[in-house]
Amino acid sequence: MFQRILFVALTFLIALSSRLSAEATVAIGYQPGSRANATFRLPTVPSPVQGDAASRGKWLVISGTADPASGGLGKLSNDQLPRSADQPAENFFFAPATPGGRLRLELDRSTEIAQIRTYSWHPRERAPQVYTVYGCDQQEVSSGGKLLENDESVQLKPSGTIDPASCGWTKIATVDTRRDGIGHGGQVGVVISASDHSVNDHSVNDHSVNDQAIGHYRYLLFDIHPTRPDARFSNTFFSEIDILDADADVTPAKPIATPDIVTYAIEEGGYEFTLDTSECPDLTRWADQELAPVVQQWYPKIAEMLASDDYEAPHDFQIRISSSMDGVAATSGTQVTCSANWYRRNLRGEAKGATVHELVHVVQQYGQSRRTNRRAARTPGWVVEGIADYVRWHLYEPASAGGGVAGRRSRTLQYDASYRDTAAFLAWVITNGNPDLLAKLNAAARSGTYSAAFWKAATGKTVDELATAWHADLEN
Ligand SMILES: [Zn+2]
Repeated sequence: MFQRILFVALTFLIALSSRLSAEATVAIGYQPGSRANATFRLPTVPSPVQGDAASRGKWLVISGTADPASGGLGKLSNDQLPRSADQPAENFFFAPATPGGRLRLELDRSTEIAQIRTYSWHPRERAPQVYTVYGCDQQEVSSGGKLLENDESVQLKPSGTIDPASCGWTKIATVDTRRDGIGHGGQVGVVISASDHSVNDHSVNDHSVNDQAIGHYRYLLFDIHPTRPDARFSNTFFSEIDILDADADVTPAKPIATPDIVTYAIEEGGYEFTLDTSECPDLTRWADQELAPVVQQWYPKIAEMLASDDYEAPHDFQIRISSSMDGVAATSGTQVTCSANWYRRNLRGEAKGATVHELVHVVQQYGQSRRTNRRAARTPGWVVEGIADYVRWHLYEPASAGGGVAGRRSRTLQYDASYRDTAAFLAWVITNGNPDLLAKLNAAARSGTYSAAFWKAATGKTVDELATAWHADLEN
């Protein structure tokens, strides 16, 4: 709300100045870190494009110090995106503990600008964007067709404390994504465009623009501020800046290709998922040919076997194979992260089954009940993991002998020892007179009503009675 008021005020000020502009509007898209990947698919704003006007432009630092650890100005409009959240060499940013600075973009010609789009990606406070952007049209301010750099009324390099608006620049928009509550890590996309209102009287003069364009400019000046002036590392990681020419026929803009991040549709159920192997291209082919079909087949199956009242399994989810992850795999929300090192060693063995286990977690979402109901019970970890391993070892890989549990002595197996031990117990209970146990257990866990009393209600026996009978059966 505040932002909108600011824009109305700002437009008023611009309207009072001699250089008028249509009202610019700012749209902000945010993807939290858990869901962000190199496709930069953001809610409410478009993904970065290639072949836009900025990719033919020249960037210059007018004031401030670029961080030598950054990828430099060449990364701003090179039509390439970072592959992960904290990739300094694929972004541009100002040096630590400096108050930001000014960047100038010189387009290859005076351009009717439809949109300015800025994208950033960082795991922490360097994701938000705080800047003011100005425009200057060389042809407009020149006399006799040639601009003189020492023209006192126009400064094409307004450094330091000089107000650009006082020396030939038109303020286009002020952006502060922190006002939208974006203070933490993730991906941020900002789209500045002309208002879709028709042009108001006060902006109609020889500098007026049509209602499709921000204005006609040769130069853009970004006056950039740190996101947290009190923090040493708070200069934004700018990943890509796109400038959309109002004449789309001249500049067709295509989404930036990310061949190792692929979105797959699952026909049954209308689900979709992305498989991200951008950190380990050697696994892209395996993921596409071996893993994706398993996910397409098993996700809807798992969603169906773990259905419960008033619940829909997540419509979309992400699987990222990470070169920096230790361990095997983990799921947070709808983001599955797998260790590239472990997967490489287990491509023929457990890699696909481990992924099926994680798909169960994507469907489970047992924490949801506690977000809406403070009295909902937390389902014990051994139940959560036991269900995931039951689906994996007993349904997906039935030839595995329960993941090797079948040969073990009963005294080495405890029903609440989690993972494949609990899975073996669940399998025994299910095949011994309780075919709907999985559905009941899942429903109790998801609604936050699971307790030790569940077993008696669901099977007529306590969990200890069931375990004793299971052990006796194993010894026979
Ligand atoms: Zn698990």
